[in-house]
Amino acid sequence: MTTLTTDDWHTLAGTLQFKSQAFINGKYVDSTTGRTFSAISPIDGKLLTEVACCGEEDVNLAVKAAREAFEDGRWSGKPPAERKNILQKFAEIIRAHRNELALIETLDMGKPISDSTSIDVRAVANCFDWYGEAIDKVYDEIAPTAQNAVALVTKQPLGVVAAVVPWNFPMLMAAWKLAPALATGNSVVLKPAEQSSLSALRLAELALEAGIPAGVFNVVTGMGPETGRALGRHMDVDGLFFTGSTQVGKYFMEYSAQSNLKKLGLELGGKSPNIILASYRDTEHAARVSANAVFFNQGEMCTCPSRLIVEKSIHEQVVEVFKDVAKNYAPGDPLDPDTNMGAMVDNRHADRVMGFVDSAREEGADIVAGGQRARAESGGCYIEPTIFDNVDNSMTVAQQEIFGPMVSVIPVENAEEAVKVANDTCYGLASAVWTDDLSTAHKVSRAIRAGMVYVNCYDSDDMTVPFGGFKESGIGRDKSLHAFDKYTELKTTWINIGG
Ligand code: NDP
Repeated sequence: MTTLTTDDWHTLAGTLQFKSQAFINGKYVDSTTGRTFSAISPIDGKLLTEVACCGEEDVNLAVKAAREAFEDGRWSGKPPAERKNILQKFAEIIRAHRNELALIETLDMGKPISDSTSIDVRAVANCFDWYGEAIDKVYDEIAPTAQNAVALVTKQPLGVVAAVVPWNFPMLMAAWKLAPALATGNSVVLKPAEQSSLSALRLAELALEAGIPAGVFNVVTGMGPETGRALGRHMDVDGLFFTGSTQVGKYFMEYSAQSNLKKLGLELGGKSPNIILASYRDTEHAARVSANAVFFNQGEMCTCPSRLIVEKSIHEQVVEVFKDVAKNYAPGDPLDPDTNMGAMVDNRHADRVMGFVDSAREEGADIVAGGQRARAESGGCYIEPTIFDNVDNSMTVAQQEIFGPMVSVIPVENAEEAVKVANDTCYGLASAVWTDDLSTAHKVSRAIRAGMVYVNCYDSDDMTVPFGGFKESGIGRDKSLHAFDKYTELKTTWINIGG
């Protein structure tokens, strides 16, 4: 939790100097296109700065710098223990710049400052610490072959890795990719989302200060269809790791197929089912935890439990608790440390989210809380926490990812129907079931087709566990030691020892 007051944060905001050029080969540089785009704060609609809009030539320069750094071994050739020390120093430097980084994040994408400080920046530093700590403890293998040979199975870095990330947790989504990629010796080119480029640009400079050599971590800012596409189609990028919408994830598969079949990791959308059954001992607790999980981060979460599937016998009680929790999430000034619901990332997204209120109304759901824009006088992009009740799973609000503070309540008869509804989606990221019946807990969690199932909790989190989805929620896993598999290739070396 931050000790600064709202006034302190506003004063600090007035003194911030943003980095706004691309970061290539250890230097801030203008885009060769000469173009820029505006970073507008969703807090008040004011211009923060103009950011370099990189084109294909800039991407080529960044990839060239990353390739040279990889080939000459300035990072890839360091012993893992040395990379560990540098990554851990980077984590310390991030912690030392906690307020500055948190403020950049909040101003750029609108989340509450207390979340930026206590969740985002802390988690980013922990992520670099964790992968740094791990990298000199991971061993390769010797296969159990016949006596006349030694077969080594070793992990080698991919080479040049690109990361394309979204705006909901800008630094953290980047860190989940950067930390294991750098730990394993790769060089990286990062493209942040156009709505949230500023923290990535500052991180790159701090990485250099920590001792990550020039050329190893580059940042190209710009538009997805131009800058992101150029990375996706680049013939000298060995792996591309993306978090964002399922639609753009599909584009990256096309880009890979159209270019060099680069390895892909895709962490995509979700429409996570959260099943509350009457067999759970404390309906009120389940409903409170669930509602907080929906409204956290303005609902701009790929794991947002946006489909609340609830047994009819407790439906009314659960909805009452949700309404009560929603009252605690009145959108406020994101720089006020007491605010828990900040601004939506931009007006385009806020309009898209508000479109779901119209569709819910048209398709016959009951809007029992929210459904309006808020804080119009601020000039920013705010939306009230919203509850759609008596939703049928075929409705748009139950099928499409809203990515806003909105939940669709779907009443069901029993656990069997709940599972059917839960799986009736193209997504398979997170899910939950609340029950005290042991066999129901096991049966439901086995039956749900999702990468993550929470039983009697939601959004439990730790670096030690993999994160990712089934179905159209993606391919591969972030976090945990499993992430090392993404950023390495297995090599088999047969050595004939005769005899
Ligand atoms: P996108 O998937 O469009 O953006 C994510 C990243 O991909 C950004 O860096 C973006 O760049 C880039 N990108 C966009 N289009 C292309 C393209 N054609 N080729 C290459 N890269 C591209 O998410 P949006 O920001 O548009 O959000 C839309 C919806 O996606 C949300 O409402 C939500 O439903 C979902 N989403 C899911 C996330 C998740 O964590 N699963 C995260 C963010 C969004 P740029 O922004 O600069 O155009």
